[in-house]
Formats: sequence, structure tokens, C-alpha cells
Amino acid sequence: MRAIVVREFGGPDVMKIEEVPQPAAGAGQILIRVRAIGVNPVDTYIRSGTYARKPSLPYTPHADIAGVVESAGAGVTKVKTGDRVYAFMTDAGGAEFALADEWQVQPLPDRASFQQGAAIGVPYATAWRALFLKARARPGETVLVHGASGGVGVAAVQLARAHGLQVIGTAGTDEGMRLVEEQGAHHVLNHRAPAYAEQIGSLTGGRGVDVILEMLANVNLDRDLELIARNGRIAVIGNRGRIEIDPRKMMGKDGTVVGMTLFNTTRDEFREIHASIVAGLENGTLAPFIGREMPLEQAAQAHAAVMEPGALGKIVLLP
Ligand code: NAP
Repeated sequence: MRAIVVREFGGPDVMKIEEVPQPAAGAGQILIRVRAIGVNPVDTYIRSGTYARKPSLPYTPHADIAGVVESAGAGVTKVKTGDRVYAFMTDAGGAEFALADEWQVQPLPDRASFQQGAAIGVPYATAWRALFLKARARPGETVLVHGASGGVGVAAVQLARAHGLQVIGTAGTDEGMRLVEEQGAHHVLNHRAPAYAEQIGSLTGGRGVDVILEMLANVNLDRDLELIARNGRIAVIGNRGRIEIDPRKMMGKDGTVVGMTLFNTTRDEFREIHASIVAGLENGTLAPFIGREMPLEQAAQAHAAVMEPGALGKIVLLP
């Protein structure tokens, strides 16, 4: 089978397409004929070799996939051969076939395409965990999705909207802003416009937002502390550098800054998160937006593209 293989850490070009043996499902495992592969920023961090998690070389990148069950190993009860599924946290998803453990696999509802299935794992679970388990967002509250045009942001807007929150989303381009509005945000701002943050005061009647989901904390965190209401919570999802903050801004408001990484998610949390996501896919409140589809051979271009400004939902690879 064809697979992306990384033999040394480095830039996007270290990814090569190679013929490798097709794996077989052992006990408790599911072999998936992969139809679409999600491209996440974390896939590029791991490939570069600078991330906290380093697979042993050579390895096949990508964790989020969707496809059809080719075979199921002994003891698997959740799915059977021929079922449409999506899988998350897999070890080697960037290939024509990939293995997943049973807990990593979910049925893919009929109304979701394979491309949409590959857009769920990291983005939707991250948005869900940040919004509900970390920031404890409640219906009726206001959330600022600071960076709403990308994979996690679109997921967060859909989840928050379906949950009865008032949603303010930001993007850095006109196209991105249109997308965020289409996904259900009540208000959309451009995080590259001067003084956009001041508009948040007027949008909330001077009160501030209850929750911020932050995609670029090294740029925004200090100002976020000014944008929250009393008892406001800021969930730091994305960060690419250092920032100086004034802690006094959060003291006066009893504010909370909470960090999160999806890799810390427990099995019980994953069970809860994906039960809710599958329900949302079934009832149509969740529908991942695919901005770009590229063949597996263009994995290097996809890794470069996901790190460029001007996000528009998800980039997926097709094997
Ligand atoms: P993505 O699809 O590339 O989207 C990036 C988002 O950040 C876009 O909405 C982009 O908007 C926005 N952004 C750019 N400049 C910004 C600014 N100054 N202020 C606010 N937002 C800005 O990436 P993603 O998959 O959504 O992930 C978002 C971030 O979270 C990444 O850094 C990723 O590594 C991280 N992440 C962390 C976890 C975790 O476990 N903690 C999990 C998933 C993702 P424009 O392009 O429209 O400007």
C-alpha cells in the first residue's frame, strides 16, 4: 500500500510516498481502508521534530482519518467490515490502510462525508474539551472564539451555537469572516483589523465575554484578560511563542486562564466527547467545513498550507 513515510525530522519535504506492507488487525484493532486524512498543525510540529512528542523513525504521520472498515480483529464489537467510520489519535493515518484501536473508532453518520469524518478527531474533540470541560461554558453565556476560521475554530462555533451560547468569532480575511458567519457566529470580527477588540465591549454591552477560546495566546492573552467579564474563563488552545501578561487584569475579575492539550484527554473524556460529537453529526448541528482537498502525494504542500494565514476550515488529504 502507499503511505507517507518520514525518515528524518525536518521541513515538509521530508515526507515521501513509499510502498509499505499493509498492516493486519490484531486483537482489539480495526483495519481501516482510509478515504480521507485530516491535516492538523500538530502533524507539522511532530514532523519538524521540535514537538514534545517524537515518534521513533521512520514513521507515518497523521492521526485523524475516515474510511471503511476493512477487517476487525478478535474481540471487536463496535464496528464490522464495511462500516463507515472515523478514527482519532491513530499512529499512522497517512496511508491507504491504517490500524486503530477500538476506542479510537466511531461510526461515521450517513450525512457526513469521509472528508468531514477526517476533520473531526483533533479539531472537534479539542473544541469540545476546551469549551465544556475546561472553560465550563453554559447555555446563555457569551464565547469569543478567537481564531474561528480554522479547524478548531469552526468546530467551536458550531458546538457553541448548538449549545445555546452567544458566539463572537474572529478571522483574519474577508473569506474567513464569511465562513465564520455561515457557521453560526452571531458576530464576526477581523483579528487583523485595528481596534477590533474594542468592538467586543460594545457587542456585550460593556460586560465582556464569559469565555474565550484562544488560538494564538502569544499574541492575544494579555488583551484577552481585558475582554472577559467577571468570572470569565480563557482556554488556551493555541500558542506559538511567549507573551507578557498583567495578572492584575484577571484578579479584578476573578478570571481564570486554563491551558489544555488534547493529548491529556482521558478515555472517559473521549467517550463522552465523541458520543456528543456523533449525536451532533447525526442531527446536523455539526458539519465540518472542508476548505481544501489534496491528493496524498501533495502532503508536503498540505503541511505548508495549514501553517499559512487565511485558514478556511480543514485541509484533507485523499489517498
Ligand atoms: P488552523 O486551521 O490553521 O487555524 C488557525 C486559526 O488561528 C485560524 O482561525 C486563524 O485565522 C487564527 N489566527 C491567526 N492569527 C490569529 C490572531 N492574531 N488571533 C487569533 N486567531 C488567529 O489551526 P487549528 O487546527 O484551528 O488550530 C488552532 C491552533 O490551536 C493551532 O496553533 C494548533 O496548533 C492549536 N491546537 C492545539 C490543540 C491542543 O490540544 N491544545 C489542539 C488542536 C489545535 P486566520 O487564518 O483567518 O487569520
